[in-house]
Amino acid sequence: MAHKWVYMFEEGDAEMRNLLGGKGANLAEMTRIGIPVPPGFTATTEACIAYQKDGGFPDGMWDQVVASMQKLNEQTGKTFGDANNPLLVSVRSGARVSMPGMMDTILNLGLTPAGVETMGAKFGDMRFAWDSYRRLIQMFGKVVLGAPAEPFEEIIDDIRKEEGVKTDAEVSAAGWKECARRFKELVENHTGQPFPEDPYDQLRLGTEAVFKSWNGKRAVDYRNNFGIPHDWGTAVNVVTMVYGNFADGKSGTGVAFTRNPSTGEKKFYGEYLLNAQGEDVVSGARTPTEVSKLVEEIPSAWHELQEIADKLEQHYREMQDIEFTIEAGKLWMLQTRSGKRTAASVVKIATDMVDEGLISQTEAVARVQASDIDQLLHPRFDLEVLAKTPVLAHGLNASPGAAVGKVYFDADTAEQKTKEEGEDVILVRPLTEPDDVHGMLAAKGILTQEGGATSHAAVVARQLGKPCVSGCGEININLKERKFTVGDVVVKEGDVISLNGAKGDVYLGTIPVVVPEFEEQTELQKILSWADETRRMMVWANADDPQQATRARSYGAQGIGLCRTEHMFLGERTQLFQNYILADDDAAKAAALAKMLPEQRDDFHGIFKAMDGLPVIIRLIDPPLHEFLPSREELMVDVAVAKVKGEDAGVKEKLLAKANELQEYNPMLGLRGVRLGVMMPDVNKMQVRAIFEAACDAAKEGVDVHVEVMIPLIGHVNELKFLQKLLLDEAKAVMDEKNATVSYKFGTMIEIPRAALTADEVAELAEFFSFGTNDLTQMTYGLSRDDAERHFLLQYVEQGILPVNPFQTIDRDGVGLLMKMAVEKGRATRPGLEIGICGEHGGDPNSIEFCHTLGLNYVSCSPFRVPIARLSAAHAVLREKGWPRIGDLGALDPDRKN
Ligand code: PEP
Ligand code: MG
Repeated sequence: MAHKWVYMFEEGDAEMRNLLGGKGANLAEMTRIGIPVPPGFTATTEACIAYQKDGGFPDGMWDQVVASMQKLNEQTGKTFGDANNPLLVSVRSGARVSMPGMMDTILNLGLTPAGVETMGAKFGDMRFAWDSYRRLIQMFGKVVLGAPAEPFEEIIDDIRKEEGVKTDAEVSAAGWKECARRFKELVENHTGQPFPEDPYDQLRLGTEAVFKSWNGKRAVDYRNNFGIPHDWGTAVNVVTMVYGNFADGKSGTGVAFTRNPSTGEKKFYGEYLLNAQGEDVVSGARTPTEVSKLVEEIPSAWHELQEIADKLEQHYREMQDIEFTIEAGKLWMLQTRSGKRTAASVVKIATDMVDEGLISQTEAVARVQASDIDQLLHPRFDLEVLAKTPVLAHGLNASPGAAVGKVYFDADTAEQKTKEEGEDVILVRPLTEPDDVHGMLAAKGILTQEGGATSHAAVVARQLGKPCVSGCGEININLKERKFTVGDVVVKEGDVISLNGAKGDVYLGTIPVVVPEFEEQTELQKILSWADETRRMMVWANADDPQQATRARSYGAQGIGLCRTEHMFLGERTQLFQNYILADDDAAKAAALAKMLPEQRDDFHGIFKAMDGLPVIIRLIDPPLHEFLPSREELMVDVAVAKVKGEDAGVKEKLLAKANELQEYNPMLGLRGVRLGVMMPDVNKMQVRAIFEAACDAAKEGVDVHVEVMIPLIGHVNELKFLQKLLLDEAKAVMDEKNATVSYKFGTMIEIPRAALTADEVAELAEFFSFGTNDLTQMTYGLSRDDAERHFLLQYVEQGILPVNPFQTIDRDGVGLLMKMAVEKGRATRPGLEIGICGEHGGDPNSIEFCHTLGLNYVSCSPFRVPIARLSAAHAVLREKGWPRIGDLGALDPDRKN
């Protein structure tokens, strides 16, 4: 038997989407379940692909089209091409996913001048009949035969002038007849051939034109942009015409959603126009009526529409976006597909559908995307005002959220204006550095002229949950004059700007902000609780103080995966650390450490209390010491100025000498991490003492403490051998002194490739591993993140040299391989070894999925990303079970058939 290239609607179903395209499959499915769809058929996507290969219809296809046309004749009781009782059809493209750039629909195919007379007589409206005919020539001429659009419009203009009328609606039957004649002339002049009058010629040319449009420039560009394969092809749908444009008061056309796409409310939502065709609703030339009014205008159609909407939702178990036409009181469905919607409505519809018994809790989880949660939890601008406000400048969308505030150009002023004057502040800097953190903490948002998506500003902003636009090269900062400019616009210190972190947009002036509360998002909470039942990995959070820990826990964190202790010495407390660095002898060092100890102990105590019953990983100090000193440049200037003035440069001079001493060619690979512990064990010992004093005190107060002490940046097991014993002894000493015991572990970060490669040896000592994928990525790629993002990494991604920024999404082939090895080797030595991740990747959905496949126990991310991680960890399980990725590809549950 010849290959089947063409399917009548009653031969297909929704499962055949790949073969029939989305539109064709859904028209077939509606036909199959008894919903009124005008009869029709679909030429397959396979036929399209064969057409591309051979430059013509594949063998047997055209015969099948003609045979299907005969069937349509039988089904409708009309005849295609017949003058007395013509069957008219539309020809529509329809790929697997809806795609712009494909051929526009052609209506009224099959209409001939003789047929026009019949049509006019039948409907008692010659004007309508000739108007339909001239539309056919116009659409066919433009879309299929490639004639330019304007001359058609010029002819219509002429006709209107000749008839002395202003609008198309006033043109007479004779006017449209004359228009059709001139259109044909125009087409003939353009193609050198008469307009094809034979309906089968029209059908053949129309079908070919759809196939050709698959490889039109716009379509190809679109597919390249969105990664849609070029060998999917498009189907062609041939559908019997139905007319909503009779002036009988019982005809019309509309588009609707089965639920509200912006709020998710279970209420039919949409609009329609009486006496109109589909394009009239979409074109916006007339103002459509709110759909519920249909109940007054054509009640029978309204009631049937409600039944159909219900039936479609029950059937597809998804909110549907539908197109319908009412011809002389009779309702026809022209399209159904799952409806696009806002994040709020994604979540509302998913939970409602669970309550209604339409979908399972697991499917509800599968339907929500990480980006939906992002949208729901970050403060956002009032969309109406936003739409009316022009963008001042555009940079990288480094950290999502909306912020409004007065511009200040340095961290101290930003902090002072916030604290002392209660102002909302936006910190604007060329770049941020660790020195600026107090200003970032105070600011509502951060804008930098330079720096990538994982620059200091971006990383810290995400951790703090503050909106940040980084790398905004369109602004020109003049720190001296305390202003920035964008073209002619000057923004001075104290002027108000608004930042949209999710888009990377900067606006002048105030845009009102709406702040969502996690606690109030009951639907989201439900989805996340279902995600919790699905996922295997735990979700922990990176938190440096009790407030962050409390917030993390309220978002559902099940532990702290990284407390960066150096962050406890930022701001005013930097002084304490400087005293240690400057100390000349052991006694002075001990005195400095003694002052630091109670501060750290208090912080730890607060964190243990906040995380009562849950594990807390505290990392010993990690960054190079110079980060606790002012910059050398700044000190040199201060000292020089003091000298010129004949003043005593005092402590600045000492600091400068120390800064010179500590200067390194490559601090990232220098004296930091465990190396600090080896060279100055007293600091680590003080930290361990503070940890265990706090832990014992908390335990005595009834807090259930589970502390895990983490040693950073090891490369060789001997580093652990040297340090861990020392620290363990200190911990035991404290517990003896306090006469208390707490549950504890000592473990390490895996963030140097050598540690991953020798993980079997490392695991002999380490009781847990945590992947520091920020450093592991830097060291595996051999690039410094800040330098790379500033100078070339984003270009690498733009040029496709790297598929994604490896600091945002784990490089599975390289860094990921090291992780895999470390997991296997580590657990070979120590079965059941606890392993997690605390690098930035712990909050990235794609990386979370990878961590799941490696068998990690948990991912740890910034508190604000905990909800996203809970969802993504559940998605990882679903993917493993064969669930497809989210898209508009119909039902998700692989085990469920409609
Ligand atoms: C890491 O390297 O991934 C990590 C968490 O440590 P930090 O970012 O503090 O260097
Ligand atoms: Mg690190």
